[in-house]
Amino acid sequence: KGGEPCLGAYAIHAGYGAVDVLHGIDIEVRPGEAVALLGANGAGKSTLMRILSGLMAPRSGHLRLEGTQIGAQDSRARVRQGLVLVPEGRQVFPELSVHDNLRLGGYTRRENAAARMSAILERFPPLATMLDRQAGLLSGGEQQMLAIGRALMAQPRLLLLDEPSLGLSPQMTSDLFEQLRQLRDEGMAIMIVDQMADLALNLSSRAYVLRGGHVAAAGASAQIAADDSLDNLYFGG
Ligand code: ATP
Repeated sequence: KGGEPCLGAYAIHAGYGAVDVLHGIDIEVRPGEAVALLGANGAGKSTLMRILSGLMAPRSGHLRLEGTQIGAQDSRARVRQGLVLVPEGRQVFPELSVHDNLRLGGYTRRENAAARMSAILERFPPLATMLDRQAGLLSGGEQQMLAIGRALMAQPRLLLLDEPSLGLSPQMTSDLFEQLRQLRDEGMAIMIVDQMADLALNLSSRAYVLRGGHVAAAGASAQIAADDSLDNLYFGG
C-alpha cells in the first residue's frame, strides 16, 4: 500500500444527452492490482470504462494515471502511457489478418515490435498458427485472444477489460481467466467488468459494485464474494 495509485478516477459524473448515468464515482487501481467492477445491467460499468480509456468525456471529475492528470488526453495518448482497453465485443478488425490486427495494436510503440509480437504468440500459441487468417473468421475465443494480444502489443501497465467472457463457452472462459491470472501474476494491473462475477472476484483482490451510477459497495473481493447482500446490490431496488 501507500504511494501513487496506478489509476484514479474521482468524483466522476457522466451521462448521455439529458440522461445522467454516473453520479460521482471514485475508484482507484493500485500498481499490479486486479480490480473487479460489478453491477447489474445499466449500472454504468461500460460508461465508466469508456471514460477511463478516453473514448468518452465525463461531465466532471478527475482522472489520474500514475500521478499525471489525463482527463484532457485522448485515448491514443492514454494508450501510449500504458492504459489500454479491450472493448466489449472485442472489436478486432474483421477484414484484416491476425498478423495485421496485432501489428496495429503496436502502432503507438514502434520499437521492438517484432519481439513483442513473438512474446504474444508464445503466450497465445493458437494465434501463431493463424497469422494470415482473416480475424473475422476466428472463433469467439480466438478473437478474444487476438483482442487481448492486440492490447498487449501496446505494452500496457493497466489493462481494462469490458465483458471479455461474453459469448465464450465455459472452457474458453476458463482459459481466458487463466490467461488473465498469468498477466496479473506478471505484475500487470487489471480492471475487469464481467458478468461471470465469481470468476472476476476470484481473479481480483478488490472489487467495486456499481448500482444506479453510484459505488454501492467496495472492498476486498473475498469479502464482496461472501457478502449476502451481493444479490441485493445487483438486483435490489
Ligand atoms: P450492461 O451490463 O448492460 O452493459 P452497464 O453497467 O455497462 O450495463 P452502461 O452500458 O454504462 O451500463 O449503461 C448505463 C446507462 O446508460 C444505461 O441506462 C444505458 O441505457 C445508458 N447508455 C449507455 N450507452 C448509451 C448511449 N450511447 N446513449 C444513450 N444512453 C446510453
